[in-house]
Amino acid sequence: MAIPDLYAEGIASGWKVIDAAKLSAAQTLEADVAIIGSGAGGGVSAEILSLAGLKVLLIEEGPLKTSDSFKDMDERRAYRDLYQEGGARATSDGAIAVMQGRSVGGSTTVNWTSSFRTPAPTLKFWAAEREVVGHSVEEMAPWFQKMEERLNVEPWAAAPNPNNSVLKRGCDKLGWEAHAIPRNVKGCWNSGYCGFGCPVNAKQSMLVSTIPEALRNGATLVHRLRVKQLQHSDGKITGAIGEALRDDARTPNGVSVTIKARHFIVAGGAINTPALLLRSGLPDPNKQLGQHTLIHPVVLTIAQMPERIDPFLGAPQSIAPTTFNG
Ligand SMILES: Cc1cc2nc3c(=O)[nH]c(=O)nc-3n(C[C@H](O)[C@H](O)[C@H](O)COP(=O)(O)OP(=O)(O)OC[C@H]3O[C@@H](n4cnc5c(N)ncnc54)[C@H](O)[C@@H]3O)c2cc1C
Ligand code: SF4
Repeated sequence: MAIPDLYAEGIASGWKVIDAAKLSAAQTLEADVAIIGSGAGGGVSAEILSLAGLKVLLIEEGPLKTSDSFKDMDERRAYRDLYQEGGARATSDGAIAVMQGRSVGGSTTVNWTSSFRTPAPTLKFWAAEREVVGHSVEEMAPWFQKMEERLNVEPWAAAPNPNNSVLKRGCDKLGWEAHAIPRNVKGCWNSGYCGFGCPVNAKQSMLVSTIPEALRNGATLVHRLRVKQLQHSDGKITGAIGEALRDDARTPNGVSVTIKARHFIVAGGAINTPALLLRSGLPDPNKQLGQHTLIHPVVLTIAQMPERIDPFLGAPQSIAPTTFNG
């Protein structure tokens, strides 16, 4: 079955998409709101703000890679094109791999589609320990509901794949509760390739949901443009300087792009956002920048099984034990 490439069609119909690798002279881009990073935070912001009638500029350092280029389902291509540091990003001691996306759609282009609401204990921790206001379970409920509807989040109804089945059997044996994970998919082929870019546009990542909608609303997407620095004076962001990258989306091509906007949203992910703020020399009187990064470690469980288990086939995460939550 032929799967139409959303971007090939959209660009042909007039979407404003700029590949900074093709720029040959310095230039200035202007907008009401400039959004740095096109992942979960950037994509949703772009859709909401463009719907509100604002002129939105969405900037992404990684390349625009779409379903047509995911069809080979090749891991080497995916790590090279879609992941920060080719998938080799790690803590400074090398002990923990830090997997993050780096293409249009950010980490949502490669994530595994598990779509949980932020757990109540986490929201409570933020309120109590980090003075975050307006994010209680009750206040967040309508927002979660809105995004669940927007991204087609529903518990995975198909049978779990072999390794998730083993997890379910283990939970049942131990008397632990386990439930089907909600996934943000529409017409999923159960292929198991979520981590390498969905070849059939079933995963409702930002690449196929909010960003196309923002482009339909007149937003501009610039990819292969890395924001090096935010400019600021008197406590206000006045602009940003970006460097266009070559086709490899890594090395600068020598062209500088100045960004002017009334508002800036920095949505570069948990590592790159504080890095940008730090290298821009933003005021940080309490030396808090980059000091509170949290990760959710993923621990692999490996076992020799009596039957054949092909964990790479089928939705990669579909069963979650809940007995120990909260
Ligand atoms: C392999 C993998 C599997 C995952 N599975 C799940 C899952 O099943 N369920 C779940 O809830 N979460 C999952 N996640 C995590 C989830 O995708 C992220 O938490 C979420 O996407 C983070 O959103 P974000 O907007 O902060 O950053 P991202 O989505 O990472 O987007 C940030 C974007 O900003 C760009 N950027 C950064 N700095 C600059 C700069 N200076 N200039 C221009 N662009 C810049 C980056 O290239 C990137 O594209 C997974 C992540 C990965 C990598
Ligand atoms: S499992 Fe579904 S969402 Fe994931 S890559 Fe395959 S078709 Fe896409």
